[in-house]
Amino acid sequence: MEGLRANLRRVLDSLPAGVRLVAVSKFHPVESILTAYAEGQRLFGESHVQEMQAKHPLLPSDIEWHFIGHLQTNKVKYIVPYVSMIEAVDSFRLLAEIDRQASKCHRVVDVLLELHIAKEETKYGLTFEACRALLDDGAWRNLSHIRICGLMMMASYVDDEEQIREEMTAAADFFDEVKSRYFADADYFCERSWGMSHDYAIACECRSTIVRVGTTIFGEREY
Ligand SMILES: *Cc1c(COP(=O)(O)O)cnc(C)c1O
Repeated sequence: MEGLRANLRRVLDSLPAGVRLVAVSKFHPVESILTAYAEGQRLFGESHVQEMQAKHPLLPSDIEWHFIGHLQTNKVKYIVPYVSMIEAVDSFRLLAEIDRQASKCHRVVDVLLELHIAKEETKYGLTFEACRALLDDGAWRNLSHIRICGLMMMASYVDDEEQIREEMTAAADFFDEVKSRYFADADYFCERSWGMSHDYAIACECRSTIVRVGTTIFGEREY
């Protein structure tokens, strides 16, 4: 636990002003979350609905939970009552379901749109083209119980720092385009969520406002 405290402090100390830390606690026990909480950390990230459901009632109510994993529409209803942000939204269908469930509990839920930029094969995330198409369509403007607060992405999992930097810079440039085309007057559209344990330092140089760090704080996960 002393290791965890020191790790957390080291990560926090290395972040520039204006960058928030999501402590990614997936696969780590409630005790580890409480240790980080005792150090003042209030923002935690989980990527599995069942796991977040199990932990959330056991922990202090002033924790902000970011759901950072791929979310299936049929599970939205479980987390919408308390989740603080859903970071990886990559379809209109998912946006609409979050809106529908949020409306039922009289909430407005903050979300980020997930981009697919990495050269790796993954089913998730919007290409720039798909993201523009979703926003051009305009139907999202009728969803009054969600608030699109920015963009999220995962860079390729590689050692090549230049490739990571290129992908994050592309995301930051695309953020500027989306901001000016669709959200120029929306102060809340301000979040750029990129950077994990192996690349959060690069992310901070590429205008990240949220880094999502797990292993560097909590240690290796045991699946
Ligand atoms: C697990 C996860 C992280 C944290 O990864 P680490 O390498 O442990 O820091 C960040 N973002 C997402 C989307 C994740 O699923």
